[in-house]
Parts: sequence; structure tokens; C-alpha cells
Amino acid sequence: MMELLWIDLADSLWHDWKGDGHAEDRLESREWQAAFLERNRLSAPVPASEEEVAELRRFRDELRGFSVRLAAGEAATEDMVHAINDQLAEQAVVRRAELEEGGSVRLSWTPAADSWRSVRAEAAADFARSLAEGLGSRIRLCDNGNCKWVFLDDTRNRSKRFCDDKLCGNLMKVRRFRERKKTET
Ligand SMILES: [Zn+2]
Repeated sequence: MMELLWIDLADSLWHDWKGDGHAEDRLESREWQAAFLERNRLSAPVPASEEEVAELRRFRDELRGFSVRLAAGEAATEDMVHAINDQLAEQAVVRRAELEEGGSVRLSWTPAADSWRSVRAEAAADFARSLAEGLGSRIRLCDNGNCKWVFLDDTRNRSKRFCDDKLCGNLMKVRRFRERKKTET
């Protein structure tokens, strides 16, 4: 499944999932910023200014807070919608009608400026889209307590517990196995 933009932003707070879970804020990393923009086909100045990083962090932490609540089974609330709208209000877009082959008309829009403000608005719109599509109840936090990544449970029976079964899933399996052996001996 393709990673959603808002989840990509939410997971910029990286934790040492194999070790003790210590956190590393990747928002501050120029390499992370460039890679994040590239994989989401967005553009903004790199490195982001201190103020831009602070604004991104504030919104990122909001998204993480909302994810925790949604993952716990809460429904969307007024403050979530407010936070989304605050971000959307900052975005200026340019709309364009384009004539396509066969005479159909397509309406497209692009951000008026390449900026981190637009990136935040895109992430907010993406989060809103997830909620509008009823995906709110599929938002999860990785069951590896040292990882804490946000992900969407795309399984039919909603049984996905780890951000990645091969990574966190396996690690936890190995840990459980070791615990069992320890109590057995
Ligand atoms: Zn994980």
C-alpha cells in the first residue's frame, strides 16, 4: 500500500524501534526533508527555516495526537476538523481549466507557491480525505511500544498490529519467544 502523505509526516518522529525506543525528530534533517518532498511529489525550499520546522512539528504532533485517539476507537471531533481547516486556510491555489483530447475539460489546481505552508495544507487535505473515506477507524499505532509509527490497517479483518510485519512484527515475535524460554527455564 502506498504511504499516505499525512502518515509520512506523522512518522517523521522516528523511534529506535529495534532498541530502546529513543526518539529522533527527522523533520530537522535536510536529507529527510528532501526525500520527503521527492517521494510525495511536492516542492518547498530545503532546508526548511526554523519557523517552518516549528510549524511542521506543531501540526505533525497534532496529527500524532489525533491518530492516538482514532486508534483508540474515538470518532473524529470538532478540534480535528478545526486543525485541518487552520492548515487549509493558509493554502492559496491556482485553478486551471484544461482542454483534453476528445473535447473534455479537466479542472486542475496547483499551490500558488512552493512552500512548506502548502506542504502542510496538502497533508491536512490528505488527512481529511482519509477521514472522509471512512479510514479513521483503520488508523493504528504500531504495537511495538518502541516504534509508535502511525499506519493504516488495510487488512479485511482489521488485524494488523505492526507497522511492518517483517520488521516490527518479527522483532516482537522473537522477543516473545525469548521471554517464553526465559520463564520456562
Ligand atoms: Zn513498528
